[in-house]
Amino acid sequence: MSSNIRVRFAPSPTGHLHVGNVRTAIFNWLFVRKAGGQFVIRIEDTDIVRSEERFEGLIYEDLRWLGLQWEEAPDVGGPYSPYRQSDRLNLYREKALKLVGNQHAYHCFCSEAELERQAEKAKRAGVTWKYPGTCQTLAGEEVRQKLDRGDASVIRLKVRQGPIRFRDLVHGDMEFSSDVISEPILIRSNGSPTYNYAVVVDDALMQITHVIRGDDHLSNTPKQVLIYEAFGWTLPLFAHLSTILGSDHTRLSKRHGATSVKNLQDMGMLPEALLNYLALLGWAPSEGQSEILPLDALIQSFELERVSKSAAVFDLNKLYWINRHYLKEADRSRVLNLAIPFLRQAGLLAEVNDAIREWAGQIIEAVLPGVDHLSQIPDKAAFIFSFDPGQALKAEAVRQVLSEGKAGEVLRALNDELAKPGQEIPRDWKEIIAAVKNRTGQKGKQLFHPIRVALTGSDSGPELDKLLPIFERGSRLALPRRILCCQERVARFAAAVDANS
Ligand code: GLU
Repeated sequence: MSSNIRVRFAPSPTGHLHVGNVRTAIFNWLFVRKAGGQFVIRIEDTDIVRSEERFEGLIYEDLRWLGLQWEEAPDVGGPYSPYRQSDRLNLYREKALKLVGNQHAYHCFCSEAELERQAEKAKRAGVTWKYPGTCQTLAGEEVRQKLDRGDASVIRLKVRQGPIRFRDLVHGDMEFSSDVISEPILIRSNGSPTYNYAVVVDDALMQITHVIRGDDHLSNTPKQVLIYEAFGWTLPLFAHLSTILGSDHTRLSKRHGATSVKNLQDMGMLPEALLNYLALLGWAPSEGQSEILPLDALIQSFELERVSKSAAVFDLNKLYWINRHYLKEADRSRVLNLAIPFLRQAGLLAEVNDAIREWAGQIIEAVLPGVDHLSQIPDKAAFIFSFDPGQALKAEAVRQVLSEGKAGEVLRALNDELAKPGQEIPRDWKEIIAAVKNRTGQKGKQLFHPIRVALTGSDSGPELDKLLPIFERGSRLALPRRILCCQERVARFAAAVDANS
């Protein structure tokens, strides 16, 4: 399906995308994918102090990682090039002078110091300051002289009388009074355009039909509407998305921890999980529909009309829940590729050959059900790599297990059985356990809990059936730290218990 619908995502290149602005990108993208239109990325880099070219690359990386694609952008070009605001400065100036020419805008020579003084005075008097329009009435001749002399000046828009109206797909029909609007600057004295001005010129010239962005820009929109009107351009439809809050219900920021796409990627969050979760931040699928929505379903279900006006709370636990779901679903070898770097970073693996890779796959299989994100894997798998019975015996839960039934006997019997020559695990495991059971008369919890603590140092964890081959195979691999096999584990554990009693 193709349509004339065009949306844009307009980040400022000041670093990796954070949850707030990437959610805006995702809503734009879902909307336009469903409508079959064009997705434009425009780089708003007129803030030369904060913008850096390398950050533009990071933005594309983040978006690509999430699986978003675009039709027009600085990196791929397009029919409305250039898409980087710093490459459009002449255009902004040219268009602003047109507005001056037809009396919709004017050169203003008031100094910043003078305007600040006025604003201070108004503040002391408890009234809101707005630009008094001093330079609106300058005679043409005077303006020309000042410009020729090189006096510093800005270009300001004349604000018309009467209400300002626009349609917002989230907030409904909006109306603002023009009385409270200070005549906005379009071009600063250094020649650079203001945000409100550049954004309108770009959105209009790039034929954007739907402006979907954060509601921090809702209060800017009346000024932007006046600029559209001054040019005689048709207004786009607006959709202002609610603010994202942290768990303490203040605006989400770095204080709340990992909030950039890169942070979340580095934690081992799957892109499809993050995309699914962020789509639910301020939007909900229709009644009765699951919140786990893979890409196609998200696109099909997405409707701006169902976007909420009220602020959305970024809930890390919910993101974890969704991530766990996608981790479970994901292709095993993909998960393994993603997980191995975490094990290497933790120093648990070094070179990874085929045998080690296969073995690591068994570890991931065993510990994955217990992780929210992949960076937790080294911690969850630590007991495989280092086994410290002395430490384990300090844990209350372990001591409890050992104090019940005939735990000591179970340990001794298990140790004896494992020491018998010719045993092979997991092949002979069942017989070994049967023998321990026979010798001690223990069964169920009383039998299996001491066995688990003797092998793992803990009373809970992944299924033993999965762990046995991990211990055995691991003990035969060349790894940064030697893995103890089952027999060695039990022998050390039993010795530590003896030494402690
Ligand atoms: N560069 C602006 C921002 O990042 C874009 C706002 C808009 O979409 O109009 O907030």
